[in-house]
Amino acid sequence: MTARLIDGKAIAAQVREQVARQVEVRRREGKRIPGLAVVLVGDDPASHVYVSNKHRACDQAGILSFQHALPSDTSQQALEQLIDELNDDPSVDGILLQLPLPAHLDSRPILERILPHKDVDGFHPYNLGRLAQRLPVLRPCTPKGIMTLLQASGLKVRGLDATVVGASNIVGRPMALELMLAGCTTTVCHRFTRDLEAHVRRAELLVVAVGKPGLVKGEWVRDGAIVIDVGINREEEGRLVGDVEYAPAAERAAWITPVPGGVGPMTVASLLENTLYAAERHDAMELEITPS
Ligand code: NAD
Repeated sequence: MTARLIDGKAIAAQVREQVARQVEVRRREGKRIPGLAVVLVGDDPASHVYVSNKHRACDQAGILSFQHALPSDTSQQALEQLIDELNDDPSVDGILLQLPLPAHLDSRPILERILPHKDVDGFHPYNLGRLAQRLPVLRPCTPKGIMTLLQASGLKVRGLDATVVGASNIVGRPMALELMLAGCTTTVCHRFTRDLEAHVRRAELLVVAVGKPGLVKGEWVRDGAIVIDVGINREEEGRLVGDVEYAPAAERAAWITPVPGGVGPMTVASLLENTLYAAERHDAMELEITPS
Protein backbone atom coordinates (compact mmCIF):
# COMPACT_ATOMS: atom_id res chain seq x y z
CA MET A 1 0.00 0.00 0.00
CA THR A 2 1.17 3.51 -0.71
CA ALA A 3 -0.27 6.08 1.63
CA ARG A 4 -2.43 8.98 0.56
CA LEU A 5 -1.10 12.32 1.67
CA ILE A 6 -2.97 14.38 4.25
CA ASP A 7 -2.33 17.83 2.83
CA GLY A 8 -2.10 20.12 5.84
CA LYS A 9 -1.10 23.09 3.74
CA ALA A 10 -4.24 22.92 1.62
CA ILE A 11 -6.56 22.14 4.55
CA ALA A 12 -5.07 24.94 6.65
CA ALA A 13 -5.59 27.36 3.74
CA GLN A 14 -9.28 26.34 3.59
CA VAL A 15 -9.67 26.89 7.35
CA ARG A 16 -8.00 30.28 7.13
CA GLU A 17 -10.25 31.35 4.24
CA GLN A 18 -13.30 30.20 6.17
CA VAL A 19 -12.23 32.28 9.20
CA ALA A 20 -11.59 35.29 6.93
CA ARG A 21 -15.10 34.94 5.48
CA GLN A 22 -16.66 34.81 8.95
CA VAL A 23 -14.65 37.82 10.11
CA GLU A 24 -15.86 39.71 7.02
CA VAL A 25 -19.47 38.81 7.86
CA ARG A 26 -18.93 40.20 11.38
CA ARG A 27 -17.50 43.38 9.91
CA ARG A 28 -20.48 43.80 7.59
CA GLU A 29 -22.87 43.23 10.48
CA GLY A 30 -21.14 46.02 12.41
CA LYS A 31 -19.72 43.64 15.00
CA ARG A 32 -16.32 44.08 16.60
CA ILE A 33 -13.28 42.84 14.64
CA PRO A 34 -11.70 39.98 16.65
CA GLY A 35 -8.43 40.95 18.35
CA LEU A 36 -5.51 38.75 19.32
CA ALA A 37 -2.77 39.94 21.69
CA VAL A 38 0.53 38.12 21.31
CA VAL A 39 3.01 38.43 24.16
CA LEU A 40 6.64 37.71 23.40
CA VAL A 41 9.39 37.97 26.00
CA GLY A 42 13.05 38.03 25.01
CA ASP A 43 14.82 37.41 21.72
CA ASP A 44 14.54 33.69 20.96
CA PRO A 45 14.86 33.68 17.13
CA ALA A 46 12.43 30.77 16.58
CA SER A 47 9.80 32.49 18.75
CA HIS A 48 10.20 35.67 16.70
CA VAL A 49 9.53 33.70 13.51
CA TYR A 50 6.44 32.00 15.04
CA VAL A 51 5.09 35.31 16.28
CA SER A 52 5.53 37.07 12.95
CA ASN A 53 3.78 34.12 11.22
CA LYS A 54 0.87 34.52 13.62
CA HIS A 55 0.63 38.26 12.95
CA ARG A 56 0.68 37.66 9.20
CA ALA A 57 -2.01 35.00 9.46
CA CYS A 58 -4.19 37.35 11.53
CA ASP A 59 -3.75 40.11 8.95
CA GLN A 60 -4.76 37.81 6.11
CA ALA A 61 -7.86 36.70 8.02
CA GLY A 62 -8.83 40.29 8.87
CA ILE A 63 -8.18 39.72 12.60
CA LEU A 64 -6.50 42.51 14.56
CA SER A 65 -3.26 41.49 16.22
CA PHE A 66 -1.51 43.40 18.97
CA GLN A 67 2.12 42.64 19.57
CA HIS A 68 3.64 43.02 23.03
CA ALA A 69 7.37 42.41 22.72
CA LEU A 70 9.05 42.65 26.12
CA PRO A 71 12.78 42.64 26.89
CA SER A 72 14.36 39.41 28.15
CA ASP A 73 14.88 40.87 31.66
CA THR A 74 11.14 41.47 32.16
CA SER A 75 10.05 40.56 35.70
CA GLN A 76 7.33 38.05 36.58
CA GLN A 77 5.37 40.91 38.14
CA ALA A 78 5.56 43.10 35.02
CA LEU A 79 4.39 40.20 32.85
CA GLU A 80 1.51 39.48 35.21
CA GLN A 81 0.54 43.12 35.08
CA LEU A 82 0.45 43.06 31.28
CA ILE A 83 -1.76 39.95 31.34
CA ASP A 84 -4.13 41.73 33.76
CA GLU A 85 -4.33 44.71 31.39
CA LEU A 86 -5.04 42.46 28.40
CA ASN A 87 -7.65 40.55 30.42
CA ASP A 88 -9.40 43.89 31.08
CA ASP A 89 -9.10 45.22 27.53
CA PRO A 90 -12.43 44.78 25.70
CA SER A 91 -10.75 44.94 22.26
CA VAL A 92 -8.71 41.82 23.09
CA ASP A 93 -10.56 38.54 22.51
CA GLY A 94 -7.55 36.25 22.70
CA ILE A 95 -4.23 36.33 24.56
CA LEU A 96 -1.32 34.21 23.48
CA LEU A 97 1.84 33.90 25.53
CA GLN A 98 4.63 32.72 23.24
CA LEU A 99 6.63 29.94 24.90
CA PRO A 100 9.31 29.24 25.98
CA LEU A 101 9.82 32.15 28.39
CA PRO A 102 13.32 33.16 29.53
CA ALA A 103 14.54 30.87 32.34
CA HIS A 104 13.92 33.32 35.21
CA LEU A 105 10.18 33.43 34.45
CA ASP A 106 7.61 30.82 35.48
CA SER A 107 5.08 30.25 32.68
CA ARG A 108 2.55 28.29 34.76
CA PRO A 109 1.14 31.15 36.91
CA ILE A 110 1.09 33.40 33.84
CA LEU A 111 -0.85 30.89 31.76
CA GLU A 112 -3.29 30.44 34.63
CA ARG A 113 -3.71 34.21 34.93
CA ILE A 114 -5.08 34.52 31.39
CA LEU A 115 -8.87 34.59 31.61
CA PRO A 116 -10.08 31.19 30.38
CA HIS A 117 -12.36 32.76 27.77
CA LYS A 118 -9.35 34.63 26.29
CA ASP A 119 -7.05 31.59 26.42
CA VAL A 120 -6.88 30.93 22.66
CA ASP A 121 -4.00 28.46 23.13
CA GLY A 122 -6.31 26.30 25.24
CA PHE A 123 -3.62 25.68 27.88
CA HIS A 124 -5.50 27.00 30.92
CA PRO A 125 -6.52 24.22 33.34
CA TYR A 126 -10.15 25.29 32.89
CA ASN A 127 -10.02 24.67 29.13
CA LEU A 128 -8.07 21.41 29.47
CA GLY A 129 -10.49 20.32 32.21
CA ARG A 130 -13.45 21.06 29.95
CA LEU A 131 -11.87 18.96 27.20
CA ALA A 132 -11.23 16.13 29.70
CA GLN A 133 -14.89 16.27 30.70
CA ARG A 134 -16.09 16.11 27.09
CA LEU A 135 -17.28 19.73 27.19
CA PRO A 136 -14.63 21.44 25.06
CA VAL A 137 -14.52 25.20 24.85
CA LEU A 138 -11.16 26.61 23.67
CA ARG A 139 -9.09 23.62 22.57
CA PRO A 140 -5.27 23.42 22.28
CA CYS A 141 -4.39 24.40 18.71
CA THR A 142 -2.20 21.54 17.46
CA PRO A 143 -4.45 18.64 18.56
CA LYS A 144 -7.51 20.57 17.38
CA GLY A 145 -5.77 21.06 14.03
CA ILE A 146 -5.13 17.32 13.80
CA MET A 147 -8.81 16.58 14.38
CA THR A 148 -9.58 19.05 11.56
CA LEU A 149 -7.10 17.25 9.27
CA LEU A 150 -8.79 13.90 9.94
CA GLN A 151 -12.25 15.31 9.41
CA ALA A 152 -11.32 17.22 6.25
CA SER A 153 -9.76 14.05 4.82
CA GLY A 154 -13.07 12.21 5.38
CA LEU A 155 -11.55 9.82 7.93
CA LYS A 156 -13.90 8.32 10.51
CA VAL A 157 -12.03 7.57 13.70
CA ARG A 158 -14.72 6.37 16.11
CA GLY A 159 -13.77 2.97 17.55
CA LEU A 160 -10.23 2.98 16.15
CA ASP A 161 -7.29 1.78 18.24
CA ALA A 162 -5.24 4.98 18.54
CA THR A 163 -1.73 5.39 19.91
CA VAL A 164 -0.34 8.79 20.84
CA VAL A 165 3.44 8.87 21.26
CA GLY A 166 4.42 11.84 23.46
CA ALA A 167 2.52 13.13 26.47
CA SER A 168 3.33 16.85 26.68
CA ASN A 169 0.79 19.37 27.95
CA ILE A 170 0.65 21.11 24.59
CA VAL A 171 0.37 18.16 22.20
CA GLY A 172 0.31 14.56 23.49
CA ARG A 173 -2.06 14.89 26.45
CA PRO A 174 -4.71 17.10 24.83
CA MET A 175 -4.39 14.91 21.69
CA ALA A 176 -5.30 11.85 23.75
CA LEU A 177 -8.31 13.74 25.17
CA GLU A 178 -9.42 14.74 21.65
CA LEU A 179 -9.15 11.15 20.44
CA MET A 180 -11.09 9.81 23.42
CA LEU A 181 -13.74 12.44 22.77
CA ALA A 182 -13.89 11.23 19.17
CA GLY A 183 -14.45 7.65 20.34
CA CYS A 184 -11.00 6.11 19.87
CA THR A 185 -9.56 3.51 22.21
CA THR A 186 -6.51 5.53 23.13
CA THR A 187 -3.07 4.54 24.38
CA VAL A 188 -0.52 7.18 25.38
CA CYS A 189 3.22 6.39 25.18
CA HIS A 190 5.96 8.50 26.76
CA ARG A 191 9.61 8.35 27.75
CA PHE A 192 8.96 5.56 30.30
CA THR A 193 6.97 3.33 27.93
CA ARG A 194 8.64 -0.09 27.89
CA ASP A 195 7.70 -1.45 24.48
CA LEU A 196 6.98 1.46 22.13
CA GLU A 197 7.12 -0.79 19.07
CA ALA A 198 4.27 -3.01 20.32
CA HIS A 199 2.01 -0.01 20.94
CA VAL A 200 2.82 1.47 17.53
CA ARG A 201 2.21 -1.86 15.76
CA ARG A 202 -1.29 -2.05 17.25
CA ALA A 203 -2.30 1.46 16.19
CA GLU A 204 -4.91 2.00 13.50
CA LEU A 205 -4.39 5.70 14.12
CA LEU A 206 -0.92 6.81 15.17
CA VAL A 207 -0.02 10.31 16.35
CA VAL A 208 3.64 10.95 17.13
CA ALA A 209 4.76 14.14 18.96
CA VAL A 210 8.16 13.65 20.55
CA GLY A 211 10.83 15.65 18.70
CA LYS A 212 13.21 12.77 17.86
CA PRO A 213 13.84 12.09 14.17
CA GLY A 214 13.24 8.48 13.13
CA LEU A 215 12.00 7.44 16.59
CA VAL A 216 9.15 5.49 15.01
CA LYS A 217 10.44 2.95 12.49
CA GLY A 218 8.49 2.69 9.26
CA GLU A 219 8.29 -1.08 9.60
CA TRP A 220 6.40 -0.73 12.93
CA VAL A 221 3.49 1.01 11.18
CA ARG A 222 0.40 -1.16 10.90
CA ASP A 223 -0.82 -1.89 7.37
CA GLY A 224 -3.53 0.60 6.47
CA ALA A 225 -2.91 2.87 9.47
CA ILE A 226 -3.44 6.62 9.58
CA VAL A 227 -0.13 8.24 10.55
CA ILE A 228 0.05 11.79 11.92
CA ASP A 229 3.59 13.03 12.46
CA VAL A 230 3.74 16.14 14.65
CA GLY A 231 7.52 16.14 15.12
CA ILE A 232 9.57 18.95 13.61
CA ASN A 233 13.30 18.25 13.57
CA ARG A 234 15.95 20.06 11.58
CA GLU A 235 18.65 17.81 10.14
CA GLU A 236 22.25 19.00 9.85
CA GLU A 237 21.79 19.79 6.16
CA GLY A 238 18.86 22.01 7.12
CA ARG A 239 16.07 19.67 5.96
CA LEU A 240 12.98 19.37 8.18
CA VAL A 241 11.91 15.85 9.15
CA GLY A 242 9.32 14.37 11.49
CA ASP A 243 9.57 11.69 14.17
CA VAL A 244 8.43 8.85 11.86
CA GLU A 245 10.65 7.28 9.18
CA TYR A 246 8.62 8.69 6.33
CA ALA A 247 9.33 6.54 3.24
CA PRO A 248 8.88 3.06 4.79
CA ALA A 249 5.93 4.28 6.86
CA ALA A 250 4.25 5.64 3.72
CA GLU A 251 4.55 2.19 2.10
CA ARG A 252 2.46 0.62 4.86
CA ALA A 253 0.07 3.40 5.94
CA ALA A 254 -3.19 4.26 4.20
CA TRP A 255 -2.85 7.96 5.08
CA ILE A 256 0.11 9.98 6.25
CA THR A 257 1.03 13.60 7.00
CA PRO A 258 4.23 14.92 5.41
CA VAL A 259 6.78 17.01 7.31
CA PRO A 260 6.76 19.88 6.49
CA GLY A 261 3.25 20.63 5.17
CA GLY A 262 1.26 18.29 7.40
CA VAL A 263 0.41 19.21 10.96
CA GLY A 264 2.59 22.34 11.05
CA PRO A 265 0.27 24.71 9.12
CA MET A 266 -2.76 23.57 11.14
CA THR A 267 -1.62 25.09 14.43
CA VAL A 268 -1.90 28.68 13.22
CA ALA A 269 -5.16 27.88 11.40
CA SER A 270 -6.63 26.57 14.68
CA LEU A 271 -5.40 29.67 16.49
CA LEU A 272 -7.39 31.85 14.08
CA GLU A 273 -10.46 29.66 14.59
CA ASN A 274 -10.04 29.91 18.35
CA THR A 275 -9.70 33.71 18.18
CA LEU A 276 -12.90 34.00 16.16
CA TYR A 277 -14.67 31.61 18.54
CA ALA A 278 -13.42 33.62 21.54
CA ALA A 279 -14.76 36.83 19.95
CA GLU A 280 -18.16 35.24 19.43
CA ARG A 281 -18.30 34.05 23.04
CA HIS A 282 -17.05 37.45 24.17
CA ASP A 283 -20.04 39.10 22.38
CA ALA A 284 -22.40 36.65 24.04
CA MET A 285 -20.89 37.38 27.47
CA GLU A 286 -21.24 41.13 26.92
CA LEU A 287 -24.90 40.63 26.03
CA GLU A 288 -25.39 38.67 29.25
CA ILE A 289 -23.96 41.45 31.42
CA THR A 290 -25.57 44.39 29.60
CA PRO A 291 -28.59 45.53 31.64
CA SER A 292 -31.78 45.42 29.60
P1 NAD B 1 8.00 17.80 24.62
O1 NAD B 1 9.48 17.71 24.64
O2 NAD B 1 7.31 18.75 25.54
O3 NAD B 1 7.39 16.37 24.88
C1 NAD B 1 7.94 15.21 24.29
C2 NAD B 1 7.20 14.00 24.78
O4 NAD B 1 7.81 12.87 24.17
C3 NAD B 1 7.26 13.78 26.29
O5 NAD B 1 5.97 13.48 26.75
C4 NAD B 1 8.18 12.56 26.46
O6 NAD B 1 7.81 11.72 27.55
C5 NAD B 1 7.99 11.84 25.15
N1 NAD B 1 9.16 11.01 24.78
C6 NAD B 1 10.47 11.34 24.83
N2 NAD B 1 11.23 10.31 24.42
C7 NAD B 1 10.37 9.31 24.11
C8 NAD B 1 10.54 7.99 23.65
N3 NAD B 1 11.76 7.49 23.40
N4 NAD B 1 9.46 7.24 23.44
C9 NAD B 1 8.21 7.73 23.66
N5 NAD B 1 7.98 8.98 24.10
C10 NAD B 1 9.05 9.76 24.33
O7 NAD B 1 7.62 18.10 23.09
P2 NAD B 1 6.30 18.77 22.43
O8 NAD B 1 6.28 20.22 22.75
O9 NAD B 1 5.12 17.94 22.70
O10 NAD B 1 6.71 18.65 20.88
C11 NAD B 1 6.94 17.40 20.27
C12 NAD B 1 7.34 17.59 18.82
O11 NAD B 1 6.26 18.19 18.12
C13 NAD B 1 8.53 18.53 18.60
O12 NAD B 1 9.26 18.07 17.49
C14 NAD B 1 7.88 19.85 18.29
O13 NAD B 1 8.73 20.68 17.50
C15 NAD B 1 6.68 19.40 17.52
N6 NAD B 1 5.55 20.33 17.56
C16 NAD B 1 4.97 20.66 16.39
C17 NAD B 1 3.89 21.51 16.37
C18 NAD B 1 3.27 21.84 15.05
O14 NAD B 1 3.44 21.15 14.11
N7 NAD B 1 2.53 22.87 14.92
C19 NAD B 1 3.37 22.04 17.55
C20 NAD B 1 3.98 21.66 18.75
C21 NAD B 1 5.05 20.79 18.74
